[in-house]
Amino acid sequence: MERYHGVITDRDLPADLVLPLASGAPWWYWSGGRPAVDFVNTHRERWRRSVETLVTPEDLSAWLVRAGVMEHPVAVPGSVLLGARELREAIDTLIVAGIEGRPPPAPAVRVVDDWLVFAGARPQLVADGGATLLTERAAADSPRRALGMVALDAARMLGTGERDRMRICESETCSGRFFDRSPAGRRRWCSMRTCGNEAKARRHRARERQRTQEPA
Ligand SMILES: [Zn+2]
Repeated sequence: MERYHGVITDRDLPADLVLPLASGAPWWYWSGGRPAVDFVNTHRERWRRSVETLVTPEDLSAWLVRAGVMEHPVAVPGSVLLGARELREAIDTLIVAGIEGRPPPAPAVRVVDDWLVFAGARPQLVADGGATLLTERAAADSPRRALGMVALDAARMLGTGERDRMRICESETCSGRFFDRSPAGRRRWCSMRTCGNEAKARRHRARERQRTQEPA
């Protein structure tokens, strides 16, 4: 995942958004801290309008390239788009269960596990001068493999001590999930620049209101 570079471009969705979207690409955001969580966040406003931003097969292809798990845009079969959404919801189910301290639902575990086979290493034996050499086959640039890499990233988070760093943004208008990479592990917002600032401004306004309402 060293090729992964998340760019933080999050913002709340406009109130007059026409749903369903024709394409979700303008509404992707990258505050999740890792591909598996950014992937979960392609389902936006889970708490309100439930906005699907992986609308078309082209959306999924473009998202996988932007997330750094696929080299080039490719044609994605409709069945893979459906499978991708199923993987996404399974990862989210496991994130939320983990955060709430509930046991992981078995069907969600199975869905993520099923995708892991596509991320597997592919050994290759080649003749190298006078010797035979065990190497690895170049990764096929396919949406299934890319989704396998997303599943693997999810499994590394869900299946290790990293699960203690899974968070849901505390902003009232953001249902963003994120992976807390702060040294102390006490981050509360998906992005300090947007949700964190918004919360600070709200607290400030509340304090101001209180101050001006108090008799002198
Ligand atoms: Zn947020």
